[in-house]
Amino acid sequence: MKCPLCAADQAESFEIREKESKVFWHCGSCDLIYKDFSLRLAPADEKARYDTHRNGDEGHRRFLEPVARAVAENLPAGARGLDWGSGPVPALAEMLGERSFDMRIYDPFYHDVRPQGAFDFITTTEVIEHCHEPARDLCAMRELLAPGGWLFVMTETHPGPAKMASWYYWRDPTHVSFFSPRSFEKFATLFGLELVRGSGRLWAFRQDDRAEKISSRPPVSGSVPE
Ligand SMILES: [Zn+2]
Repeated sequence: MKCPLCAADQAESFEIREKESKVFWHCGSCDLIYKDFSLRLAPADEKARYDTHRNGDEGHRRFLEPVARAVAENLPAGARGLDWGSGPVPALAEMLGERSFDMRIYDPFYHDVRPQGAFDFITTTEVIEHCHEPARDLCAMRELLAPGGWLFVMTETHPGPAKMASWYYWRDPTHVSFFSPRSFEKFATLFGLELVRGSGRLWAFRQDDRAEKISSRPPVSGSVPE
């Protein structure tokens, strides 16, 4: 099965056997782990789950604070930003707006008007694990970045196939794509971005002129199924 991040044909399946056994795929090229397509929810069922997400409260804002801090440490006030996958309550966009950033939001379920770039930075927090086609979505984000623009990605990285059974993160039925540090390194290479910082669950990438030239060939688009 072709990897939805790097498009390599090197994925091997593995199963987690419980009451119902679940099939996952692990890409040997980029280390992405993704759920078998049979485990994906229909969009209406996904949205029903997102509608129950509590966000925007104090706890959620605390959770997002490291992203807001990383943006503020690297970009000047007034910079133009996009929060991709903001959810029903655009908490991070509000927090960054309070810090004088000029924010827009996009969410395929709640604010589905495609934003017009270019943006000095894009944040996407706890989103990429929901993406059925992460290359397509990350590529779309990258296209909206201004030269030198930043992409901040927050997600929990996977512990490897052998430890998946005891990892809670995949149990959310809307979580389907799981990155590792190696997946992010591969992503940066494929998409012509510089990996500036990667630690814990926060990953920061930057588009620079040099990277732009390297990636003038389309990296993955065209080989990724729509
Ligand atoms: Zn891959």
